[in-house]
Amino acid sequence: MPDLRNEVVEDRTNALAGKDHMGDMTRVQLTVLKIDHPFPTIARLTVRIHTEDPAAWSVPNVAVRLEVAEIEGHRPISRIYTIRRFDPETCEAEIDFVLHEGDSPAMLWLRAARPGTTALMIGPRPHFSPAFEAGKRIAILADETAIPAVLSILDAWPEGETAEAWIETADRAAFDELPRPRGVTLHHLPRAAQAPAGTTGALAAAARAAITDGNWTVWAAGERRDMREIRAVCAEHGIGREGQQIMGYWKLGMSSSEIDRHRLATYEALKARGVGLDNLSDADLDI
Ligand SMILES: Cc1cc2nc3c(=O)[nH]c(=O)nc-3n(C[C@H](O)[C@H](O)[C@H](O)COP(=O)(O)OP(=O)(O)OC[C@H]3O[C@@H](n4cnc5c(N)ncnc54)[C@H](O)[C@@H]3O)c2cc1C
Repeated sequence: MPDLRNEVVEDRTNALAGKDHMGDMTRVQLTVLKIDHPFPTIARLTVRIHTEDPAAWSVPNVAVRLEVAEIEGHRPISRIYTIRRFDPETCEAEIDFVLHEGDSPAMLWLRAARPGTTALMIGPRPHFSPAFEAGKRIAILADETAIPAVLSILDAWPEGETAEAWIETADRAAFDELPRPRGVTLHHLPRAAQAPAGTTGALAAAARAAITDGNWTVWAAGERRDMREIRAVCAEHGIGREGQQIMGYWKLGMSSSEIDRHRLATYEALKARGVGLDNLSDADLDI
């Protein structure tokens, strides 16, 4: 077992446990019921969430922080995943893990997981849905780590809203599985199997080709550098922060623990200025 101590993120000011950060989230247990591999790039876990409040888990695009390793005397090592689908009757949920190389904390946890495995997680954290604004077109841009978020958003797509969505994945089947609500046009951005994720620039190129004026609101999630480029496209057309919901879900060559340290430092700086989590923008992280 690799030594994961360098993945610990210390929270010296206890900022993450405070009400401002936790909101209505709690620490709940999940039990793994089933592990499928619907496509070569994905492990799909069906889990039971042991919650007393299924309604809180029934909103689109909910994220959780799954505790994937324990280091004695320290905060657990955690990774963020999206609830792809949730059934409030049974409290069963699906979580898709994008498989990638290396002995990362999430991949190690996943390889050891079996039906019956339990874990703690913090959630539900409702994440962004597109901003539906009269007269504005909606662009959705996502790599495979954000396909579960897109699926959950499309499952609850409001009647009468229109959008264009660009999805980068090496797995055509993962794209084909997305729902097609009326009004949403989906475009597949194929990535060659041998090309590493986060290296093609295809999402940013799609954004650049499509967004040629300020009449858009943009929802995007994926590799951090791709997201930075998409923010630049927005800036070029005067699309301000209110018109953007853009989040870097991971960064090529950097562990999420390192991203979490940057996020925590940015959050602590905000708190020191007397402002809270609502003012923490992913765009403000220095990575
Ligand atoms: C709100 C939110 C929701 C998310 N939802 C999902 C989801 O539903 N499914 C999902 O799979 N991911 C999702 N992610 C992304 C996931 O948290 C990261 O991919 C995370 O880095 C995985 O942790 P790890 O321990 O495997 O790798 P880390 O320890 O974080 O990183 C180790 C190495 O692996 C690389 N790496 C990490 N992820 C990938 C990847 N996807 N492809 C290639 N290389 C990678 C890193 O660049 C780094 O070099 C989400 C992230 C956020 C912020």
